[in-house]
Amino acid sequence: MYKKIIVPIAIDQLEHGEKVIEIAKALVDPDGEIILLNVVEDLYAYAQGYMIVDFPLEMVEESRKHAETTLNGLLTSHAVKGKAAVKTGSPAATINGFAGDEKADLVIIASHRPGLMDYFIGSTANRVVSHCPCAVLVDR
Ligand code: ADP
Repeated sequence: MYKKIIVPIAIDQLEHGEKVIEIAKALVDPDGEIILLNVVEDLYAYAQGYMIVDFPLEMVEESRKHAETTLNGLLTSHAVKGKAAVKTGSPAATINGFAGDEKADLVIIASHRPGLMDYFIGSTANRVVSHCPCAVLVDR
Protein backbone atom coordinates (compact mmCIF):
# COMPACT_ATOMS: atom_id res chain seq x y z
CA MET A 1 0.00 0.00 0.00
CA TYR A 2 1.18 3.52 -0.77
CA LYS A 3 0.90 6.54 1.49
CA LYS A 4 0.93 9.28 -1.14
CA ILE A 5 0.03 8.66 -4.77
CA ILE A 6 0.20 11.31 -7.47
CA VAL A 7 -2.07 10.93 -10.48
CA PRO A 8 -1.11 13.34 -13.28
CA ILE A 9 -4.20 14.17 -15.33
CA ALA A 10 -4.13 15.67 -18.82
CA ILE A 11 -7.37 17.64 -19.22
CA ASP A 12 -7.76 16.43 -22.82
CA GLN A 13 -7.39 12.77 -21.74
CA LEU A 14 -9.91 12.58 -18.92
CA GLU A 15 -11.05 9.02 -19.72
CA HIS A 16 -7.55 7.76 -19.12
CA GLY A 17 -7.32 9.84 -15.99
CA GLU A 18 -10.52 8.37 -14.59
CA LYS A 19 -9.22 4.83 -15.14
CA VAL A 20 -5.96 5.69 -13.37
CA ILE A 21 -7.81 7.24 -10.42
CA GLU A 22 -9.51 3.89 -9.82
CA ILE A 23 -6.12 2.12 -9.86
CA ALA A 24 -4.81 4.66 -7.35
CA LYS A 25 -7.80 4.07 -5.07
CA ALA A 26 -7.06 0.33 -5.07
CA LEU A 27 -3.40 0.89 -4.16
CA VAL A 28 -3.57 3.69 -1.61
CA ASP A 29 -3.15 2.99 2.09
CA PRO A 30 -6.35 3.53 4.14
CA ASP A 31 -4.56 6.46 5.84
CA GLY A 32 -2.94 7.65 2.63
CA GLU A 33 -3.86 10.33 0.12
CA ILE A 34 -4.17 10.74 -3.64
CA ILE A 35 -3.18 13.99 -5.33
CA LEU A 36 -4.61 14.74 -8.76
CA LEU A 37 -2.13 16.95 -10.61
CA ASN A 38 -2.55 18.93 -13.81
CA VAL A 39 0.27 20.91 -15.35
CA VAL A 40 -0.78 23.92 -17.40
CA GLU A 41 1.87 24.54 -19.99
CA ASP A 42 3.32 28.02 -19.74
CA LEU A 43 2.47 29.15 -23.25
CA TYR A 44 2.99 32.77 -22.22
CA ALA A 45 6.71 32.22 -21.57
CA TYR A 46 6.87 30.14 -24.74
CA ALA A 47 5.26 32.92 -26.81
CA GLN A 48 7.65 35.50 -25.37
CA GLY A 49 10.58 33.32 -26.36
CA TYR A 50 9.32 33.66 -29.93
CA MET A 51 8.80 37.43 -29.50
CA ILE A 52 5.01 37.07 -29.72
CA VAL A 53 4.30 40.13 -27.59
CA ASP A 54 0.49 40.24 -27.66
CA PHE A 55 -0.11 36.73 -26.23
CA PRO A 56 -3.07 36.97 -23.80
CA LEU A 57 -1.74 36.23 -20.31
CA GLU A 58 -5.32 35.53 -19.17
CA MET A 59 -5.31 32.36 -21.24
CA VAL A 60 -2.93 30.68 -18.81
CA GLU A 61 -5.04 31.85 -15.86
CA GLU A 62 -8.23 30.56 -17.53
CA SER A 63 -6.62 27.19 -18.19
CA ARG A 64 -5.57 26.98 -14.53
CA LYS A 65 -9.11 27.74 -13.36
CA HIS A 66 -10.61 25.22 -15.77
CA ALA A 67 -8.11 22.58 -14.59
CA GLU A 68 -8.92 23.28 -10.93
CA THR A 69 -12.66 22.91 -11.54
CA THR A 70 -12.15 19.70 -13.53
CA LEU A 71 -9.87 18.09 -10.92
CA ASN A 72 -12.17 19.04 -8.05
CA GLY A 73 -15.06 17.50 -10.01
CA LEU A 74 -13.08 14.26 -10.35
CA LEU A 75 -12.28 14.23 -6.63
CA THR A 76 -16.01 14.38 -5.92
CA SER A 77 -17.29 12.03 -8.62
CA HIS A 78 -14.71 9.34 -7.75
CA ALA A 79 -14.92 9.91 -3.98
CA VAL A 80 -11.16 10.39 -3.78
CA LYS A 81 -9.53 10.98 -0.39
CA GLY A 82 -7.02 13.63 -1.28
CA LYS A 83 -6.64 16.92 -3.08
CA ALA A 84 -6.17 18.62 -6.43
CA ALA A 85 -3.06 20.52 -7.50
CA VAL A 86 -2.55 22.71 -10.57
CA LYS A 87 0.98 23.78 -11.52
CA THR A 88 2.41 25.73 -14.42
CA GLY A 89 5.43 24.58 -16.40
CA SER A 90 6.48 21.74 -18.66
CA PRO A 91 4.49 18.59 -17.81
CA ALA A 92 7.15 15.93 -17.17
CA ALA A 93 9.64 18.12 -15.26
CA THR A 94 6.82 19.58 -13.16
CA ILE A 95 5.36 16.15 -12.35
CA ASN A 96 8.81 14.89 -11.30
CA GLY A 97 9.57 17.99 -9.21
CA PHE A 98 6.17 17.83 -7.54
CA ALA A 99 6.62 14.13 -6.68
CA GLY A 100 9.91 15.04 -4.97
CA ASP A 101 8.52 18.06 -3.12
CA GLU A 102 5.53 16.07 -1.86
CA LYS A 103 7.69 13.04 -0.95
CA ALA A 104 5.21 10.90 -2.85
CA ASP A 105 5.84 7.17 -2.96
CA LEU A 106 4.06 6.43 -6.25
CA VAL A 107 3.13 8.23 -9.48
CA ILE A 108 0.59 6.52 -11.75
CA ILE A 109 0.57 7.71 -15.33
CA ALA A 110 -1.11 6.61 -18.57
CA SER A 111 1.41 5.39 -21.15
CA HIS A 112 0.23 7.76 -23.87
CA ARG A 113 -2.78 9.51 -25.24
CA PRO A 114 -5.48 7.23 -26.68
CA GLY A 115 -5.08 6.49 -30.37
CA LEU A 116 -1.30 6.70 -30.49
CA MET A 117 -0.90 2.97 -29.94
CA ASP A 118 2.08 2.79 -32.31
CA TYR A 119 4.21 4.28 -29.60
CA PHE A 120 5.26 2.06 -26.75
CA ILE A 121 5.19 5.03 -24.38
CA GLY A 122 4.34 8.73 -24.83
CA SER A 123 6.81 11.54 -24.32
CA THR A 124 5.53 12.73 -20.93
CA ALA A 125 5.25 9.22 -19.49
CA ASN A 126 8.72 8.41 -20.84
CA ARG A 127 10.32 11.39 -19.09
CA VAL A 128 8.49 10.66 -15.86
CA VAL A 129 9.65 7.03 -15.86
CA SER A 130 13.23 8.14 -16.54
CA HIS A 131 13.56 10.93 -13.97
CA CYS A 132 10.90 10.63 -11.27
CA PRO A 133 12.39 10.37 -7.76
CA CYS A 134 9.81 7.75 -6.67
CA ALA A 135 8.19 4.59 -8.07
CA VAL A 136 6.15 4.99 -11.27
CA LEU A 137 3.32 2.76 -12.47
CA VAL A 138 2.58 3.09 -16.20
CA ASP A 139 -0.94 2.07 -17.20
CA ARG A 140 -1.30 0.75 -20.74
P1 ADP B 1 1.55 11.38 -25.67
O1 ADP B 1 3.04 11.65 -25.64
O2 ADP B 1 1.14 10.09 -26.34
O3 ADP B 1 0.76 12.57 -26.10
P2 ADP B 1 1.62 11.85 -22.93
O4 ADP B 1 2.88 11.16 -22.49
O5 ADP B 1 1.62 13.33 -23.17
O6 ADP B 1 1.10 11.10 -24.19
O7 ADP B 1 0.45 11.59 -21.89
C1 ADP B 1 0.42 10.45 -21.11
C2 ADP B 1 0.00 10.80 -19.71
O8 ADP B 1 0.89 11.78 -19.19
C3 ADP B 1 -1.38 11.43 -19.53
O9 ADP B 1 -2.42 10.49 -19.54
C4 ADP B 1 -1.21 12.06 -18.16
O10 ADP B 1 -1.26 11.07 -17.15
C5 ADP B 1 0.20 12.60 -18.25
N1 ADP B 1 0.21 14.00 -18.71
C6 ADP B 1 0.48 14.46 -19.96
N2 ADP B 1 0.37 15.81 -20.00
C7 ADP B 1 0.03 16.22 -18.75
C8 ADP B 1 -0.25 17.48 -18.13
N3 ADP B 1 -0.18 18.63 -18.81
N4 ADP B 1 -0.58 17.49 -16.81
C9 ADP B 1 -0.64 16.35 -16.11
N5 ADP B 1 -0.40 15.14 -16.62
C10 ADP B 1 -0.08 15.05 -17.93
